[in-house]
Amino acid sequence: MSRISVFSISSEALADEVRALGAPVWRARQIEEALFGKFAASWEDVSLVPRALRDALAAKFHSPGESFSVIEVAGEDASGTRKLLGRLADGQLVECVIIPAPDGRATVCLSCQVGCPCRCAFCASGLTGCVRSLDSGEILAQASCAARILGRRPDNIVFMGSGEPFLNYDAVLSAARRLNAPKPSGFGVGARRITVSTSGVVPGIERFSREGLQLELSVSLHAPDDETRSRLMPVNRRWPLGELIPACRRYTESTGRIVTFEYTLVAGLNDGPEHVRALLRLLRPFPCRVNLIALNPVPEFAGRAPRPAECEAFRAALVRGGVNATMRRSKGRDVSGACGQLRRARILAGADSAAGADAPVQRSAAAPTKASAAFSRTSSAL
Ligand code: SF4
Repeated sequence: MSRISVFSISSEALADEVRALGAPVWRARQIEEALFGKFAASWEDVSLVPRALRDALAAKFHSPGESFSVIEVAGEDASGTRKLLGRLADGQLVECVIIPAPDGRATVCLSCQVGCPCRCAFCASGLTGCVRSLDSGEILAQASCAARILGRRPDNIVFMGSGEPFLNYDAVLSAARRLNAPKPSGFGVGARRITVSTSGVVPGIERFSREGLQLELSVSLHAPDDETRSRLMPVNRRWPLGELIPACRRYTESTGRIVTFEYTLVAGLNDGPEHVRALLRLLRPFPCRVNLIALNPVPEFAGRAPRPAECEAFRAALVRGGVNATMRRSKGRDVSGACGQLRRARILAGADSAAGADAPVQRSAAAPTKASAAFSRTSSAL
């Protein structure tokens, strides 16, 4: 059996492993205390446990530091944002971002896929498609790494890094449950402080609404009409606004929870008065909130951010129209902070081709993963 991340197995499975290795089951609790309470990076760091048991476990499971090892830290920029480029155990690269708030809290943005099948026009992660999905342990290893850097548990978690969470549904939900679980079996992050962000995968929204969890849902909207949205987000051709918005509305009706719509403002494309009017028609019928953010440019997308005053005028017009809207500062510009830019820069520089690390944009085509196959089906319908 090939090794998997120790974070990929449940508490019960870890206890079974410990028992099978002839150790008392309470050792499993010690291991979890080191992993989730002290953010241990290596098996060496699980120091209360006898070496023989550690070695036996290490033969089967990657430590958190092997599951996600930082190879580059970009930052801090003026906002204090730090972007971590990390290598997974098979050499693939993903990014994880630590975003501090003025009140001292820290949000950690996690990736759930290597690349992304959704290919949004303004996103570096989508430019090369999806290589593979992460398992839950690889997702949790990013949070553990961020916690080590912070010296404490993150306050908020957002699934807004590379990848579409609802095309890697089981791993993302499993990781979210473990992030939320109290210590020693999880990180103890409040459910309402964990946000899953989708590009608009309607079946995922419907499934998510049946989970009975208190997690937050955010939906990347970015345009109030199908023509513009399809230009920005090919996923809209599969699940257009006529399906997406009713699904969000049903989500709110069945869970009582409000959806946050993310809306990236691009000058001349989706920031005019006609877009405000269309957004109001779309969203006013049900309670929701809109997070506006000015475009964080990538070289491959010929768009620019509106001026701050224009962004503010857009926000104020939405509020006047009865929609709760806030302006989010684009953090991380100075550190290639938008989704996928750091990884892409490294690929373009060829920094990892020698190690065979990230070439597998082509490899994925030869051996499609479950996730890439899922979006291939989607793509074929686009
Ligand atoms: S914005 Fe999100 S959904 Fe779109 S390509 Fe990037 S990672 Fe994927």
